[in-house]
Amino acid sequence: MIDRKQCEELDRRDPLAGFRERFLLPEGIIYLDGNSLGALPKAVPARLGAVVAREWGEGLIRSWNAAQWIELPQRVGDKIAPLIGARAGEVVAADSTSVNLFKLLCAGLEIASSRRVILSERANFPTDVYVAAGVRDLLRQGHELRLVEREGLLAALDESIALLMLTQVDFRSGYRHDMAGLTAAAHRNGALTLWDLSHSAGAMPVELESSGVDLAVGCGYKYLNGGPGAPAYLYVRRTLQDRIRPPLSGWMGHREPFAFTTGYAPAKGIARNLCGTPPVLAMASLDAALDLWSEVDMSVLRAKSVALSELLIATVEERCAGLGLALASPREAEHRGSQVSFQHEQGYAVMQALIAAGVIGDFRAPDLIRFGLTPLYLRYVDIYDAALALAEILRERHWNRPEYLRRAAVT
Ligand SMILES: *Cc1c(COP(=O)(O)O)cnc(C)c1O
Repeated sequence: MIDRKQCEELDRRDPLAGFRERFLLPEGIIYLDGNSLGALPKAVPARLGAVVAREWGEGLIRSWNAAQWIELPQRVGDKIAPLIGARAGEVVAADSTSVNLFKLLCAGLEIASSRRVILSERANFPTDVYVAAGVRDLLRQGHELRLVEREGLLAALDESIALLMLTQVDFRSGYRHDMAGLTAAAHRNGALTLWDLSHSAGAMPVELESSGVDLAVGCGYKYLNGGPGAPAYLYVRRTLQDRIRPPLSGWMGHREPFAFTTGYAPAKGIARNLCGTPPVLAMASLDAALDLWSEVDMSVLRAKSVALSELLIATVEERCAGLGLALASPREAEHRGSQVSFQHEQGYAVMQALIAAGVIGDFRAPDLIRFGLTPLYLRYVDIYDAALALAEILRERHWNRPEYLRRAAVT
C-alpha cells in the first residue's frame, strides 16, 4: 500500500513544487477542480488593482493607447500560443469558447464550400454540439450535424465531411483523442479540423502546428487560471487566416477600426476574428495569470500530471475497494488528459460530502465524480489525503444526508 511518507518524498523531489506558492489557495482545502475554475495566481490581484486604480482611474480613456489596452487580445493570444504549439500571430483572446466556436464554424464551413457535414462525437461537450446545431439552422444551406460514437469517427470521415469538430479531452471521462492522427485522417479525406482545447491547454503539451490543425478554440478559466468567465481564445492556422470571412463582422476586426468608414473590410491576419471591445479587466487578469507559464516545461508538467493521476487511481482503488466506486477514465495514461473520474450510484451526494470535508472536486451527470489534476499547485500528499477522505465518506456513508442529496444549480 502507498503511504503518506512516500508521497511526502515525491513532493520533496518535485521539480514543479515551487509553483504552488505562486497561487493563493485557501487554508485547509484540497482543490481538485482546477479543470473547471483554475486557482487564483498571486500576480492577479496586484495587476487588477493597478489596472483599476492607475490605468482606469487615472489614465481614463488615454489608457487604450498608453497602457496598450487595445493590444490585449493579441498580446494575450501570443502568450497562449506557445502552450498550444502555435506561433505568435496565430491566436487571439476574445469572447467565450461558445462564441469562438460559432465564429470558426461559420468561417470554416464557408471555406469548405460544397461539403455540408459537420462531424463530431455524441459525447462532445454540450455547448459545442448546441452551437454547431445553431450554426446549421442559421445558415439554411442544407448543412448537417452528424454525431457518431467515438469508435466510429474514423469510419465516418468520407467526402461529405466539411469539418471535423472535436474536443481533445473529454470533460466527463478525461479521455484524450489522438489529435494528430484524427487531423491527418480528416485531411486525407479533404475535411478541415476544429479542435476545442478547453481541457488541454495548460494541462499537457498541445501541438497544433505539428499536428496540422486548421482551427481551434479554448477556455481561459480552466487550466489557464484566468478567473471566472475569463476570455477564451481562438486559433487559425496562418495559411488559412486570410480566407476567413468573419460572421461577426464587428469593428475590432476591421482593417481600420478608427477610420470609421461605412463599409466593412476585415483586418489582415488573426485580428479579423475579433468583434467588439475587449473586456479589459478580464483580459488583464488572464494576461497576468499567463506570465508564469513561460517558466514551465510542459513535458515536466505532463509527467507530474500522469504521476498524480496514477497515484489517485491507485490510492482510491486500494482504499475504496468494495465501496461502489468504478474508474470511469481510461486506465492507460496516454489516453487520458489531466483528470480522473469515478462512477458512483450516489455520485452527487458523495461529492457534496467530500466538499464539506474540504476536498473540492465536482460532479457530472448522471453519476460521475470528477477530479482535475493541476500540476502547478497540487502536491502528491493532497492526492493521498483526498483519496483517504473519499474512502472514509464511502465507508461511513457520510454522503447519506438530506443536504447532500439536494441538487444545487451549478454542479
Ligand atoms: C469549459 C468548456 C467550454 C466553455 O464554454 P464557454 O462558452 O466558456 O461557457 C466549451 N467547450 C468545452 C469543451 C469546455 O470544456
